[in-house]
Amino acid sequence: MTENGPLSRKLFAAAKEVIPGGVNSPVRAFRNVGGEPFFVRKAKGSRIEDVDGKTYIDYIGSWGPNILGHAPTVVTNTIHEVAKSGVSFGIPNPFEVEMARKVTDWVPSVQKVRMCNSGTEATMSAIRLARGFTKRDLIVKFDGCYHGHSDSLLVAAGSGALTHGEPDSAGVPSDFARNTIVLPYNDPEALEAVFKEKGELIAAIIVESYPANAGFVLPKPGYLDLLKSTCEAHGSLLIFDEVMTGFRLGKAGVQGLENLTPDLSCFGKVIGGGLPVGAFGGRADVMDMLAPDGPVYQAGTLSGNPLAMAAGLAQLKQLGGTDGLPNGYDRLDVLGAHFEKGLRGVMEARGIPHRINRVGSMFCLFFTDREIVNVDDVMKQDLELFKKLFWGCLDKGIYLAPSPYETGFLSLAHTEADLDDTVQVIDEVLKDI
Ligand SMILES: *Cc1c(COP(=O)(O)O)cnc(C)c1O
Repeated sequence: MTENGPLSRKLFAAAKEVIPGGVNSPVRAFRNVGGEPFFVRKAKGSRIEDVDGKTYIDYIGSWGPNILGHAPTVVTNTIHEVAKSGVSFGIPNPFEVEMARKVTDWVPSVQKVRMCNSGTEATMSAIRLARGFTKRDLIVKFDGCYHGHSDSLLVAAGSGALTHGEPDSAGVPSDFARNTIVLPYNDPEALEAVFKEKGELIAAIIVESYPANAGFVLPKPGYLDLLKSTCEAHGSLLIFDEVMTGFRLGKAGVQGLENLTPDLSCFGKVIGGGLPVGAFGGRADVMDMLAPDGPVYQAGTLSGNPLAMAAGLAQLKQLGGTDGLPNGYDRLDVLGAHFEKGLRGVMEARGIPHRINRVGSMFCLFFTDREIVNVDDVMKQDLELFKKLFWGCLDKGIYLAPSPYETGFLSLAHTEADLDDTVQVIDEVLKDI
């Protein structure tokens, strides 16, 4: 464990007096690596700087949103400019229309979209909508998939919930949890069995299109197609939670890569340009069930506010290569491949059992030689080795996710030199273990 600087330590002590656990989101507390978080003063590009003046190459990017790097000028300039005209009106503004148009243009399965303020709101609302549309109560989710912290979905969830070894939360009525069926991921038999028994009662399957909150797990070939055909056969809806993957792995997220058409999709993170934003959308006939047109209620005082919409749009435009700009996703994939190659080289040279899952700018290194099929495999890796790597890297100015259950993120601000330096640090740290 690395000792933080005096200002971080002082702030954390003060925070703990007035904020539960000293943090506003549990995974930030570093409990899973056994230490204390540092406090950040500022960040730019691929670097963050803590309050004591130490800088790190950052592989978290605010847990996904900062795909252009930290404080990209296109986004910060937009925020400054737009804020001068007001930050929230509570009545429609033009940016909302432009954002909805952008999402429906980029994601073919989304015919209509509603903006909200977080990924949690997006998945919670999509679930309610699916239940309202199908007039059924049951939903199916997968062990280790995290969909935010709403009651129905905080059952066998990954991410912070897993990190704390409490897959379920106190305060969730068991009546709610009863309507959530949890299945192992990548297990076609389990899926078929449950639909055979209860298919006509199931409103929806919700799935992280590529599960990325319990390590980074990829679907077996044909598995996502099976989810789609199973839903179709039983009149259930397929909800892709692309809060993490949406607008990160390409303009149409995983559904674009896999050529699939979910009924509903959830977004967050990248779509907000670093501001608090979520969105859910999909088939027009389903979306039209929402209030005020339909009977499914959903609302938000700050939803679609001009600042968040404009920041998100600025980020998406930069990424998408409009206005004569190159497509950022191609570059991110080049960076990802470069980093993966370096990492593999180090692991192989040192003879360390490992698996690396990577797609585009998302990656996860596992200290195991098991095939990573689901969350069980992720949990059976060498967690002690992960901790040592985390602290060793942090000490040398590399900030990896403080939990083996989180995915790493690259941004367009990372350079090949950043990645090479990081690989070298990882090699040095592993040498000393
Ligand atoms: C982050 C995340 C959420 C929750 O989003 P918040 O903005 O943190 O509420 C939901 N689903 C997935 C897949 C996520 O990665």
